[in-house]
Amino acid sequence: MTHIAFIGLGHMGGPMAANLVTAGHTVTGFDLAPAALDAARAHGVGIAASGPEAASDADVVITMLLTGQQVLDVYQGGLLAAAKPGTLFIDSSTIDVDSARAARELAIAAGHRGMDAPVSGGVVGAEAGTLTFMVGADDADFVEAEPLLSVMGGRVVHCGGSGAGQAAKICNNMILGVSMIAVSEAFVLGEKLGLSNQALFDVSSTASGQCWALTTNCPVPGPVPSSPANRDYQPGFAGQLMAKDLGLALAALESTGTDARMGTLAADLYRHFADEGGAGLDFSAIINTIRERSGASS
Ligand code: NAD
Repeated sequence: MTHIAFIGLGHMGGPMAANLVTAGHTVTGFDLAPAALDAARAHGVGIAASGPEAASDADVVITMLLTGQQVLDVYQGGLLAAAKPGTLFIDSSTIDVDSARAARELAIAAGHRGMDAPVSGGVVGAEAGTLTFMVGADDADFVEAEPLLSVMGGRVVHCGGSGAGQAAKICNNMILGVSMIAVSEAFVLGEKLGLSNQALFDVSSTASGQCWALTTNCPVPGPVPSSPANRDYQPGFAGQLMAKDLGLALAALESTGTDARMGTLAADLYRHFADEGGAGLDFSAIINTIRERSGASS
């Protein structure tokens, strides 16, 4: 049994903390939002009056926040100072690689250990304990964290040293954003050519066009009954999160001088999609934007 401090009990952090409790660990949590605290308390999470109070007794501190700045602020706002020497800090937020590395450096400087371990799998995966963890960590820290991460995830991949987990997350979601746009454009073109959505799906889902955006998260209703398109594009993976992740990819493309024109364009298209009403919809709803721009009705 491990004593875990869990900071950030939102859509993802709440159910992740609950799964740790179910597995028999002692979890003390903190969040700024009273509703998040209430939900976590109902799942057996002990509630602290502050982040530092939660961290003071913990062997492991997990953060699940929105931005790199939040993670750095929380680390420097008392979390690192309050923790016992040698505490393992695991940040599972999706943030930029530089902030992830800076967070680990701060943890090391304060006498602790640190790693990045962002996730994919969404709220459904967080609740079911089937997330994929992408981990950037030293070997020894990875070995120690892996059993805990396995409670919350179905797959735990050691991607390399500090920052490698965030790098994998950003690269994977750049593939996803680009491929969803490509699949959506193909459906709209097919519609304009008089091809039924089902016919295109039947061909491409078993041909060289197959990909997750088509076969699991199909942007048109019908061919894949479980895809968000069949429930008015309720997420799923919200457009604002795709826009955020592609924003991180764009920053990484610029800082590394990588010539990724598709990723750059996808970041631009998803930014507009999120700003113009798609923020709370599943990211596959971008097909409706493409239809509108093509003068077709959805
Ligand atoms: P969320 O907004 O629901 O949760 C974030 C929580 O952090 C909120 O409850 C907020 O009150 C809390 N918080 C902010 N500042 C705090 C502070 N100083 N101290 C304590 N708590 C604080 O967001 P989420 O959907 O749970 O996402 C969390 C992270 O996971 C993000 O980085 C997101 O990009 C990533 N992610 C989300 C999904 C998804 O489907 N929601 C999927 C994969 C990855």
